[in-house]
Amino acid sequence: MSHTAVVSGVEVDTRHWIGGERVASAETFDDVSPIDGTVLAQVARGRQAEVDRAVAAATAAFPAWSRTAPEERAAVLHAIADGIEKRLEELAQVETRDNGSLLRSHRRGVMPRVAMNFRFFADHLLRLHHDDFETRGHRNHVTWDPAGVTAVITPWNAPLMLATWRIAPALAAGNTVVVKPPEWAPLTASLLADIAAEAGLPAGVFNVVQGLGVEAGAPLTAHPGVRRISFTGSVPTAQAVGAAAAANVTPVSFELGGKSPLLVMDDADLDLAVDLAVEQFDNSGQVCLAAVRILVQESIADRFTEAFVERARGIVQGDPREEATGIGPLIGRTHFDRVDGFVQRAKAEGATVLLGGEPNTELNEATGGTYYRPTIFTGIDPTSEIVCHEVFGPVLTLQTFGTEDEGVAMANDTDYGLAATLVTGSRERAERITAQLSAGTVWVNCFFVRDLAAPFGGNGRSGIGREGGTWSFDFYCDVKNSVFAPGGWNGNG
Ligand code: NAD
Repeated sequence: MSHTAVVSGVEVDTRHWIGGERVASAETFDDVSPIDGTVLAQVARGRQAEVDRAVAAATAAFPAWSRTAPEERAAVLHAIADGIEKRLEELAQVETRDNGSLLRSHRRGVMPRVAMNFRFFADHLLRLHHDDFETRGHRNHVTWDPAGVTAVITPWNAPLMLATWRIAPALAAGNTVVVKPPEWAPLTASLLADIAAEAGLPAGVFNVVQGLGVEAGAPLTAHPGVRRISFTGSVPTAQAVGAAAAANVTPVSFELGGKSPLLVMDDADLDLAVDLAVEQFDNSGQVCLAAVRILVQESIADRFTEAFVERARGIVQGDPREEATGIGPLIGRTHFDRVDGFVQRAKAEGATVLLGGEPNTELNEATGGTYYRPTIFTGIDPTSEIVCHEVFGPVLTLQTFGTEDEGVAMANDTDYGLAATLVTGSRERAERITAQLSAGTVWVNCFFVRDLAAPFGGNGRSGIGREGGTWSFDFYCDVKNSVFAPGGWNGNG
C-alpha cells in the first residue's frame, strides 16, 4: 500500500503522525477532490488504538515541553511560521485541490494567516502578565500553568487555518496536541506535521490522527488522558463531544455554526451594502460567520435587491484554481445533497427564487465536481427552515423590515449568535444598534476583519467560550494562584 499521494505536484504522507514518526493503519479512506470528483489520496483510517497511541505520545512529551522556557517555545513556533511561509504555495495548492476553496484566497489571505497564527501566539506568550498582589501581607502569585494534552477537532471549510488557530495557542501555552483533521480535507494537516518536525518541535508534542469523526474523533474526545478539547464544527457533533467530555470533566471550547444577519439600514451606503452582501457567497457560503440572513429596511429594499441580484448574477463559478473564479464547488456529494435538500424544500414551501435555486448541472457534467449556483430567496416565512437552519452553502435569504426596532428584533431572532453585520451611515445609530445585537462579533460597515488579539466565539448555539489573545491562554492553561505567607521561612526567607 502506498503511503504517499502526489497532489498538485506536492508529496503528502497519508499516514498518521504520532510520537515523531509516521504510523500506518490497516484501513484507509478515500479523500475526494470537490473540483472534479478525483480520488486524491487513500488516507490512514485511525480508530481507538491510534488515538490511544497518540494520547500516550502527547502525555509522555508533556513534562518536558511544558517546562521548556517560554522564549524557547516561542522560537519553535516562529520557526514553524517560517516553514509555513516557505511552503506557502504548496500548502495553498494542496488545500484548494482538497477542499475546493479559491486558490487566490489561500495564497493571499488564508495561508499567510496560518503562519500568523503561530507568530501571534508566540509573541503573546511572552507578553502574558503573571499577576502579583498582596492580601493582608500575603503575596498572591498568579501563573498560567499548561493544562496537558489538548485535542483539536476541526472542520473542512478552512482546514489548516481553523486547526492552527487552536494548535498554535495550545503549543504556546505549553500543552501537547493531538489533532483529528476533517476527513473531507485531511491533507494539509499532514504537511503541517512535516513542517513542525523540521522546525524542531520535539517528538510527541504535536500529533495527527487521521480518520472519520465517529471512529477517531469520538475516542479522542472521550479519552481520559485529554485535558482540553477545542472543537470547531456543527451543533449535533458538539452535543456528542460535550457528552463525551462531561464523563471526564474535560473543559471544552466550542466554535459552532451560525445564521448571522446582515442588517442594511435606510441610511446605508448602498454600494457598500451590496459589496458586503455579495461577499457572503465567498467559499460557496461554507463560512461559519457568513451573514446569510440579509435584512433590508423597506424604503431601500427595491433598489438594494435589484443591485444585489444583478451583482450576484455576475459571479463567475468554476475551477477554484482559476484567477477569474468567484465561487467554486461545495465540499462533496453528501454536503451537495444536503444543500440541495434545503433549497428544494424552500421552493416547495413557496419561497421566491431571485437567483439560482439549483445545482450548476452544466458545470457538474463537464467536470465531475459538485458546483451549486449562488441562490437568493425572498418571500419567505420567518419561521421557515431556510431562515432558521444553517445551510452552509451559497444560499442567502432576503427579508425586509420597517422600523429600526423591528430590524434588530429580526436580527436577534435566531438560536445562533456567532456574528452580525450592520450597514448604516449614522455613527449614533451604529452605537445604538450594536449595543442591542446578540453576537460574539459585530461588524459595522465591514465584514471579516479579524484581529487575533480580539475575543472570538459565539452566543447561544454558536458555541461555548471565547478564544483569541489572552482568552486563548485562559482556555489552554490551568490558571493557578499561589499564596505566600509573610513569614515561616526557617530563618532563610
Ligand atoms: P462536523 O461537526 O460534521 O465535523 C467537524 C469535525 O468533527 C470533523 O473533523 C469530524 O470528523 C469530527 N467529528 C464528527 N463526529 C464526531 C464525533 N462523534 N466525535 C468527535 N468528532 C467528531 O462539522 P463539518 O460539517 O465538518 O463543518 C461544518 C460546521 O462547522 C458548520 O456548522 C460550521 O458553521 C461550523 N464551523 C464553525 C466555525 C466557528 O469558528 N464557529 C468555523 C468553521 C466551521
